[in-house]
Amino acid sequence: MTRISSKKKNISANSTTNITDPSTWNFATKCLQAGWKPKVGEPRVLPIFQSTTYKYEDVDDVERLFALKQSGNKYTRTGNPTVAAFESKITELEGGVGAVATASGQAAVLLAISNLVKAGDHIVASKTIYGGSYTLLSVRLSKLGIETTFIDPEDSIAELRKAFRPNTKLIFGETIGNPALGILDFEKFSKLAKEFDVPFLVDNTLATPFLVKPLKLGVNVVIHSATKYIDGHAVALGGVVIDGGNYNWENGKFPDLVEPDAQYANTSYTKKFGRAAFITKARAQYLRDFGAALSPFNAFLLNLGLETLHLRMPQHSTNALALAEFLSKHPAVNWVSYPGLKSSPNLKRIRKYFDYQGGSGVLTFGLKGGRAAIRSFVKALKVAALVVHVGDARTSVLHPATSTHSQLSPKDRLAAGIPEDMIRVSVGIEDPRDIIADFEQAIAASTKGGK
Ligand SMILES: *Cc1c(COP(=O)(O)O)cnc(C)c1O
Repeated sequence: MTRISSKKKNISANSTTNITDPSTWNFATKCLQAGWKPKVGEPRVLPIFQSTTYKYEDVDDVERLFALKQSGNKYTRTGNPTVAAFESKITELEGGVGAVATASGQAAVLLAISNLVKAGDHIVASKTIYGGSYTLLSVRLSKLGIETTFIDPEDSIAELRKAFRPNTKLIFGETIGNPALGILDFEKFSKLAKEFDVPFLVDNTLATPFLVKPLKLGVNVVIHSATKYIDGHAVALGGVVIDGGNYNWENGKFPDLVEPDAQYANTSYTKKFGRAAFITKARAQYLRDFGAALSPFNAFLLNLGLETLHLRMPQHSTNALALAEFLSKHPAVNWVSYPGLKSSPNLKRIRKYFDYQGGSGVLTFGLKGGRAAIRSFVKALKVAALVVHVGDARTSVLHPATSTHSQLSPKDRLAAGIPEDMIRVSVGIEDPRDIIADFEQAIAASTKGGK
């Protein structure tokens, strides 16, 4: 019989964990067990509460719910027990005070931002953000009278100060920019946010709380496309907004969070909900009125995805680094960008900010030989597949110039950091030897102009 030994990894009870207090449990344990807390005789596994409605007997109870005087479910657009368990788990993983789940990542970005701005307000945002967020700010919100100044996140603090105006209401960036893959200088951004007294919002989709917890780095609100690594299996669309509870909304810039809301019995969000003011208002006003709610079934799938986040992220990071190293030595490759590479200028930020020393699963590289070579390369892939997605457990590739960024002119694409030769890879958790062998043979096919 094999004896189980904990010697090798030096595993011992962690003195900072009080096992009777689940809020002190370690990250991996929370991935499995935070959120759903079954009582005696209840299902161990988070059930799908597939119901739009909730039963009451007393009109007074319902009146209290509608006046925000009592918490509870009214209608699944604003709350559902399966969705709530997912929200509560991700809140614990990010270290926030509350979360609202949404139908998609796009809906999460829209919900978080619209909870803070109105026509006439101004936003400062990194220009290296996800294309959908860029369009949301530059086209959709600007049509509603909300203007955004896009800044180069690598500019000096003196340069960045010039972007701020008296009506600036927030600063927005991505932990790992998609697809340019730069890592945010949290220190510089949070310094600016404090100096101009505006909340700092970060999209943490590509990093996940396993790699980095932005709320510990001066961030006030974290946003995710849960469709990516949180799901991890490319089965469900979803998003989530997490409130850090660490911003003073009573600084005169956010009257809607402070002054009585006539629709909810004159509730003041900051006075009644304190540190959870932002997230309570997001649910009570914008989830209710915009209606982009997460379905209970998708919440079940996203919760299941989170159960293995701590196992998948190290493997995604290890496999991506191995593939990036292989590609950087390949003669048919023009360039490789991966934040975990030794040669990457982003590695020092991983060292400085990340809880786990890994660069996540996304890398980009330039393939020699033009469109013909790219066509042959993609066709020859056996393990990886051409897919519009990142964060799946399976390896995926995408050619941004003919897909996500095909509406832009070649000149505008270049300005957005998307050269014609760029292939984006979302490295999966298959055996890294098979992934590398697949790329090796597909690149060989591309250089032959193969079929
Ligand atoms: C995919 C993505 C989004 C949008 O999320 P959806 O779930 O597709 O709506 C937002 N931000 C980032 C960084 C993304 O990768």
